Amino acid sequence: MRFLSSESIFNGTEFLNKNSILVINEKNQFIDIIEESQLDPLQIERFDGIITPGFVNTHCHLELSYFQNIIPQKTGLVNFAKNIISKRSQFSVEQMNKAIEQADSFMENNGIAVVGDISNTNLSFKTKQKSKLYYHSFIELIGLNSEKKENILEGGIALLKELQNLGLIGSLAPHAPYSTSVQLIEAISNYNSKNNLPFSIHNQESEEENKFLQGEKSEFYNLFEFLNIDISWFKPKHRSSLNAYSSFLKSKKNILVHNTFTSQEDYGSVGSHVFWCLCPTANLYIENKLPDYDILLSNSKQICFGTDSLASNSNLDILKEGSIFYSKTKDLGLSLRALTYNGAAALDLQENFGSFIKAKNTGLNLIEVKQDKFLLKEVIVVADRLSLLV
Ligand SMILES: [Zn+2]
Repeated sequence: MRFLSSESIFNGTEFLNKNSILVINEKNQFIDIIEESQLDPLQIERFDGIITPGFVNTHCHLELSYFQNIIPQKTGLVNFAKNIISKRSQFSVEQMNKAIEQADSFMENNGIAVVGDISNTNLSFKTKQKSKLYYHSFIELIGLNSEKKENILEGGIALLKELQNLGLIGSLAPHAPYSTSVQLIEAISNYNSKNNLPFSIHNQESEEENKFLQGEKSEFYNLFEFLNIDISWFKPKHRSSLNAYSSFLKSKKNILVHNTFTSQEDYGSVGSHVFWCLCPTANLYIENKLPDYDILLSNSKQICFGTDSLASNSNLDILKEGSIFYSKTKDLGLSLRALTYNGAAALDLQENFGSFIKAKNTGLNLIEVKQDKFLLKEVIVVADRLSLLV
């Protein structure tokens, strides 16, 4: 047994009383919280800082790891997408695989226990199979033309089955409202809710997205022209992009990613089964703008964080994302909760991760808060998803 004590201990949802001792066994599984007075002081390991459960990175694209330091910053979402499309053929499969392996190790070394990860192909599946991290893979589907809905859905289900046959967990996810027809979004949502799986979508990352769905002049028309895709048949919804599909958010957990241009009205139009995933570094990298956290928090505290990909982030350090949110809001409890319990709950993994759970190893991190910044001092215990399967 190990008896751990620190200046403070955060259990995923709240700080424990002073003098609380965390008890873990030789398999690094959580056993109990006890009072310091119950122990001989010599038995206690003392730490300086805040002990937390392992972190959750709710939104990542492991597959795009080879884009680290390649894409120019602050050019807007449409130019970002054009850069991704035109540069992606420069890399060999070996380079891509190596970058994926390195990104996976980086996350393990930085206290991350769980990742909600977007997959467009099977490129990252082998790494995920070997990893200590628990990945929930969102098989991402794209297709604005509703006539192709059935084929795209079938392809997505086939890739999801391939993932599941490797013993990995996943569900389907539409890419974004500007790239996926509402009919396909609805079909994906139906599939996930029928199978009791979480749903995820990129939401309102750019103002151009709202304009596109509203029927205004939008840079997205340039993107489709660049891609040589005829969208003359496209009928705008004359609503904000969230409003165009919010009635299809039917899963018990729905993760809306980015929300940089989400309005008060938009927040009011969805229910409590929505988690707002914030990726501040990626937002600054691409659009140089953050969501209005005051408006968001006046509507919901159900927030979590994502690093997005190495195409729009210098590293996959989820604590840095929490740190940016904390420096703007000064809400320490909510920032830590979003890094741990909320992320796990968004992925419907709250029974296994995000807090201290009896007989489970959910990871233990030691952090400190210095000049409004979170710093990782030590990963005390690495979470191990494989130990859950035994
Ligand atoms: Zn993303």
